[in-house]
Amino acid sequence: MITIRSILKLFMAIAAMVLISSCATDAQVRRSIAQRQQSNEKMRQEYLDPGVITVVLPGTAGPMSPTEAQSATAVFVNGQFLLFDAGDYAQKRMEQFQLPMDMLDAVFITHFHNDHIADLGEVMQRSYMLGRQKDLVIHGPNGTDAIVEGFNAIYRADSAYRTQHHSEEIMPSEFQFAAASEFSASENVIEVYRNNGVVVTAFRVAHPPVEPVFGYTVEFAGKKVVISGDTLITDELRHQSTDADLLVMDIMNYELVELMENGFRENGDHRNAKIFYDIREYHPDAAELGSMAEELRVKRLALTHFAPTLPTRQLTKRYYIDPVRKNYSGRVYADGDGTTIRIPLEYE
Ligand SMILES: [Zn+2]
Ligand SMILES: [Zn+2]
Repeated sequence: MITIRSILKLFMAIAAMVLISSCATDAQVRRSIAQRQQSNEKMRQEYLDPGVITVVLPGTAGPMSPTEAQSATAVFVNGQFLLFDAGDYAQKRMEQFQLPMDMLDAVFITHFHNDHIADLGEVMQRSYMLGRQKDLVIHGPNGTDAIVEGFNAIYRADSAYRTQHHSEEIMPSEFQFAAASEFSASENVIEVYRNNGVVVTAFRVAHPPVEPVFGYTVEFAGKKVVISGDTLITDELRHQSTDADLLVMDIMNYELVELMENGFRENGDHRNAKIFYDIREYHPDAAELGSMAEELRVKRLALTHFAPTLPTRQLTKRYYIDPVRKNYSGRVYADGDGTTIRIPLEYE
């Protein structure tokens, strides 16, 4: 029989359950904040370890992947955080991989294809929102200034709201905007950054018909990391890559691209067939890249900008890793977004 007392008991039991579960939820929130902070701090120490150059590839896709982040390479060297390109979704990936965005020192742009600059505005703004309290300089060839100014204009209102809301101390207005540092697009090789022993050199590459287009070499303590950008194999790329400790290289498989081109044509998709025919002039073939890396004694080879990105590890192995390994005996990194390479510095 249902009595007022039994209804009251049921009500009390439900209230107790709600109370217990809400306490558990509050405790979980507190615990997860503490865990996240500890984990972020641990990752920060690892990335900023002065005894190692750590290279992370937050984005490894070309322009056509619907899921993976586009081009971005982060280099942590001697306590500095240098980012090369910022394609779409790169910022989200960097936060997922717990890169210390507040430490970002400089960004370097290889060229102005959208898959290399789409997320530059978010990188500028999110690093500021996440605590960057130092200037951010965007290095790139002539044309970089207009792009940086454009992103500064896009985020002007947002930045003002945030300083107004959170105070000058938390979000100082002096660090809201990035500054461009352009170098002459007519140079073939030019030093663009030097800070506490770390030197970055830009070198002209070939990605026809795109101009200007550059790769970058980062040097510190006798170690050399080369970032190709988008390029075919050129004499200057070969020169820069010789004896490199790491070459981060865009890659294509011509056989696969031809297969896809024919597949589109057979299905009456002449637009995509033409695009896949055209892009073969953009990137080197996997087998050719393997031969170059072997000949030039490249110690580590990280594959990026997969053109196209493949949906399974098995297919990546078949079309990219295997053809490279056929000709190259060094270490190959091809783990997609989040690929991490550590290069120990041997101090005497
Ligand atoms: Zn690209
Ligand atoms: Zn490109």
